[in-house]
Amino acid sequence: MKLIPLWPLMEMSRDLRAQGINVAHGAYNMNSLVHIKAAIDVAQELNSPLIAQGSEGANGWYSGRPDFRNATLDEKMKGARKIAADVSAYAAQASVPVVLHLDHGVDPDFAIAAIEEGYTSVMYDGSSLPLEQNIANTRRVVEAAHKKGASVEGEIGGLAGAEEGIEHETAKYTDPDEAERYVAETGVDALAISYGTSHGEFKGKVNLKLEIAGEVYGRIRKNGYQCELVSHGSSSLPEHLLSGLVEQIRAAGYADQFKRPDPGVPVEMLMKASRYGISKINVDADIRLATTMYVWEYFNKNADARKDPVTGKMWELMIAEPSKSRPRYYMTPIQQQMIAEDRSNPHVSGILDCIAEGVKLVLRERIQQLGGAGRAGEVEVRGIEDMAREYAAA
Ligand SMILES: [Zn+2]
Repeated sequence: MKLIPLWPLMEMSRDLRAQGINVAHGAYNMNSLVHIKAAIDVAQELNSPLIAQGSEGANGWYSGRPDFRNATLDEKMKGARKIAADVSAYAAQASVPVVLHLDHGVDPDFAIAAIEEGYTSVMYDGSSLPLEQNIANTRRVVEAAHKKGASVEGEIGGLAGAEEGIEHETAKYTDPDEAERYVAETGVDALAISYGTSHGEFKGKVNLKLEIAGEVYGRIRKNGYQCELVSHGSSSLPEHLLSGLVEQIRAAGYADQFKRPDPGVPVEMLMKASRYGISKINVDADIRLATTMYVWEYFNKNADARKDPVTGKMWELMIAEPSKSRPRYYMTPIQQQMIAEDRSNPHVSGILDCIAEGVKLVLRERIQQLGGAGRAGEVEVRGIEDMAREYAAA
């Protein structure tokens, strides 16, 4: 199946909600061909639609630059082209609809360029800018995207936690007045709000302010806009995952230097939020931690991998900072093999399997919990060209 824009999935959630059925779509961050294959395999196995996301950082990483945060626009475009080629080639063999969405595009020019490179949906995140500037930039992205048929997600308010290398200590909750104006003046298809979730694996005590989602969504519906809400920072970090990770780090002998992540947002809470207009739920930290758990387990079971000329360098990074459960940090020594899925070194191949297992563990669980399983056939599949016509007519 060819890649589709985000909007048909958002529309499906909205229509089901009106019938009293709750379905939210998880959106999962991809950093390699291995992630992509595993995610599409699970979607196929569960007959669910899939939102695969690549952040700006992921596009830089995929271009092959170890210091991916410093990637230039050209390099990020090269990465975007590769991710899009991998996702569309693999999705073409699947029978479920797949969306390729840019997560946290902070540069409007890159958000627009990503569509040219094959993304079917983009987030433009101007939430840290003054409202006027955010509206102007978003409008420019929406105009370019809708001309091509791609969907756009915007953001109002700011989450606590680290995202794309930028750390925010406190949250700035979404102001419904600002959100209402932003949606009216930009024409975005989806709106990320700040209502108590936070990025990363140290979320503290989660307290969702559902009234914010309810108020914002109520106004969007009342005004007749075609826009659904998005919940960022929504990894659930369930106990079985956290204790599994701790157990592997303890077995390796590094428990003393490990800071245990906090539990995340329970899925029941997310499903409650989905009744208030949340249709897309971003999941990243769950996949990072599940992958990291399997990687520690691999090194525990294969002591010679710690001495291997390639994976040994990875091991050194892991034990230097055991709390840094960030695969794009400790996998730098195998970045090229990861991007190309080069399995010529058996230990590298073993590590790549850890990524696949991490993705599968999380997606199998989350897709079923969020209600996506079995729903692939219910999505009204419209390609990017169909959507371009619809946007032009509206
Ligand atoms: Zn986010």
